[in-house]
Amino acid sequence: DAISQPSPTQVLRDVFGFASFRPLQGEVIHHVSDGGDALVLMPTGGGKSLCFQVPALVRAGTAIVVSPLIALMQDQVQALVQSGVQAACLNSALTAEESRAVEQALLRGELDLLYCAPERLLTPRMQSLLERAQISLFAIDEAHCVSQWGHDFRPEYLQLSMLHERFPAVPRIALTATADDRTREEIAARLGLADARRFIGSFDRPNIRYTVTPKNNARQQLEQFLRREHPGDAGIVYCLSRRRVDETAEWLRERGWNALPYHAGLSAEQRQTNQQRFISDDGVIMVATIAFGMGIDKPDVRFVAHLDLPRSLEAYYQETGRAGRDGLPASAWMVYGHQDVAMLRQLLEESAASDERKRVERQKLEAMLAFCEGTVCRRQRLLAYFDETLPEPCGNCDTCLWPPTTWDATEAARMALSC
Ligand code: ADP
Ligand code: MG
Repeated sequence: DAISQPSPTQVLRDVFGFASFRPLQGEVIHHVSDGGDALVLMPTGGGKSLCFQVPALVRAGTAIVVSPLIALMQDQVQALVQSGVQAACLNSALTAEESRAVEQALLRGELDLLYCAPERLLTPRMQSLLERAQISLFAIDEAHCVSQWGHDFRPEYLQLSMLHERFPAVPRIALTATADDRTREEIAARLGLADARRFIGSFDRPNIRYTVTPKNNARQQLEQFLRREHPGDAGIVYCLSRRRVDETAEWLRERGWNALPYHAGLSAEQRQTNQQRFISDDGVIMVATIAFGMGIDKPDVRFVAHLDLPRSLEAYYQETGRAGRDGLPASAWMVYGHQDVAMLRQLLEESAASDERKRVERQKLEAMLAFCEGTVCRRQRLLAYFDETLPEPCGNCDTCLWPPTTWDATEAARMALSC
């Protein structure tokens, strides 16, 4: 009952075993525990899960968590159960019998958290269950899936606004790691969270060094970078096409690097094997299309290299963000050429997207190109795109370390020395 509910700090310590909140976590958790609505933006690894898991344990009733991927749900539920929390999930991976057991537990008030796929949540059966259960809050994870401009669009997310209409007294928290201000407002509008308090965490990843260089001979430039800065390290090399992935992986292997390919054209088995080797062996270089990365939690990725230009700064931020999750120094290295831009523009024009969407995508590509050509601090520019101000140049990107005015001379000197 309400009187014996623990405080957020107690839950953090006793259930999760953490001594203190991460930046912003404490504020979000108190706000939601007190029944407020929240829209939370925090980078990947920032600790978004606790922002709803702690209030779920503080408030009476069951928290309903909407999550787009079965694998993500299962990971979280398993971790919660190991910590002694009453958590379960409902998704298409369960048998009818297993589902019924979870539904009964919900109705008996035995669950602190129930993870649910969005399409499941919207069924009449689930709606009637929710009306009979005591709901503590709704958490909508990966909330950018509601954005039609984003690459993870999930149509079912659009209907989640009805949760508020059906259950106006239940607080809601939406969380995401990717959103420029346009996307953020779209999320708020579509989920009916216009009045929710916004919590915007810092997106800075100070241990990542950003470097962007004009492309002349991409592979040789890559190898120089690897030799100079990352011999023996694990990392990801992103290429635009499957063919370029295969060719680059083979080229690196021929030259003695421990490189493997990953793209949607390989068999599921081959992808699984390569992914497993990347995660468990030391120093594997994964050469991949953007099909690789989501949900991969490898803390010691030391570099992310782009041989081709990403489509947007959101994509660039998300992909480079896979480097250095352990907080140790890591590199985000990229070569870009105007041919990349021409190619991406052409792919966009030939796509089936609406005119409005094409216009937005073109703007995103322009912003990406402007970032590459910029001569100010990369980190200031990248964070500014996410509406964050970094007061001083960072001192840990190419434009800070090797200012552009002296760049040509430095590069010439470097070339002369290496001859
Ligand atoms: P996100 O969803 O924002 O990507 P997660 O919720 O998965 O991030 O958390 C990332 C990692 O940070 C997890 O391993 C989690 O246990 C850890 N973590 C979160 N909050 C804290 C905290 N207050 N103290 C220590 N570790 C934390
Ligand atoms: Mg998360």
